[in-house]
Amino acid sequence: MLDKLANITTARRIVVKIGSALLVGGGQANEEWLMRMAGDLAALRRHGAQVIVVSSGAIALGAARLDLPKGGRGSLADAQAAAAVGQIGLADLWSRALGAQGITAAQVLLTLGDLEERRRYLNVSATLDRLLEAGAIPVINENDTVATAVIRFGDNDRLAARVAQAANADLVLLLSDIDGLYDRHPREPGAKLVPVVKAVTPKIRAMASGESSSGLGSGGMTSKLQAAQIATRAGIALAILNGTHDAPIAHALAAGTGTLFLPVRSDSARKAWLGGRLAPAGELRVDQGCAQALRSGASLLAAGIVEVSGNFRRGDLVSVLSMKGERLAQGLTEYNAADAQLIAGKRGDDQAELLGYAPRSCVIHRDHMVLL
Ligand code: GLU
Repeated sequence: MLDKLANITTARRIVVKIGSALLVGGGQANEEWLMRMAGDLAALRRHGAQVIVVSSGAIALGAARLDLPKGGRGSLADAQAAAAVGQIGLADLWSRALGAQGITAAQVLLTLGDLEERRRYLNVSATLDRLLEAGAIPVINENDTVATAVIRFGDNDRLAARVAQAANADLVLLLSDIDGLYDRHPREPGAKLVPVVKAVTPKIRAMASGESSSGLGSGGMTSKLQAAQIATRAGIALAILNGTHDAPIAHALAAGTGTLFLPVRSDSARKAWLGGRLAPAGELRVDQGCAQALRSGASLLAAGIVEVSGNFRRGDLVSVLSMKGERLAQGLTEYNAADAQLIAGKRGDDQAELLGYAPRSCVIHRDHMVLL
């Protein structure tokens, strides 16, 4: 692990995600811990890395301040109110902690749509570049106060992976209150830490549980694995480290503990963005022959589609599912839902008649599709 994590010291651009359980304890900010954390980040910068922080904690801090039940997560309205109050405090904490290291903090609040839409995504990417060039550390959180349930990331793990893509980073560190991924529930006897994961397979996913162990964050291991998938598919390494130690990054490097997910492939920047998108507008279920053709790099033809669901427009992102319901791919559709429905299962010759216009060569072109 340690030798593999050595790329931490060579990484050029690192996204460090810090979970709520680390920043907030008993409704209070863990200021001392944060001060030392800022020291750790300053050390990464001295090694030549540029650093972006994705910080949770707004909801937990605000809920304590407003005295809301369930850590502010009892309802969406509570979470939004708590975030509005907590985010001011969080920004102040980061500004002081980084300031003590002589580093300028920059607050960036993002919604899901900012990274789902290509133009806005490129805009975020340019802003992050400029901030890093100017020597600041962007401190990012989801804009929880305006994000509503259907258009939320909901967890900062996936937000961190998407930010890493937008920033063209080479490494994501998810700091949590757990050592890493265990091969079964960590409380079960005999549970072992998995040091390196080469690919997030169904076997790996089966090891994870969706609950956050502290009850403060919303992540749990499931969202960390989703984040790992988004990052590694874009050629970015991701590590889960225990942040409860003082100076946790230095500690993890020295002790060699944590779970490192190795990059699995390096898609082009646009494909990486497409593959990491989180909010498909519909689903296309395809037969086995079509699934095989997709895996060998073909475009998605209408003939292979068995079922169309959702209400999408031409150009929207849709998921492609196997007959068993596994997610095979996602991509931008050439047809709206009604037309896709009309030509599902039909060959080229029949399509023109059904549509009343010349059909396109496929429903999703391989240039606009990413296998998952
Ligand atoms: N954005 C949330 C907050 O600041 C945290 C989301 C998460 O727990 O991952 O409180």
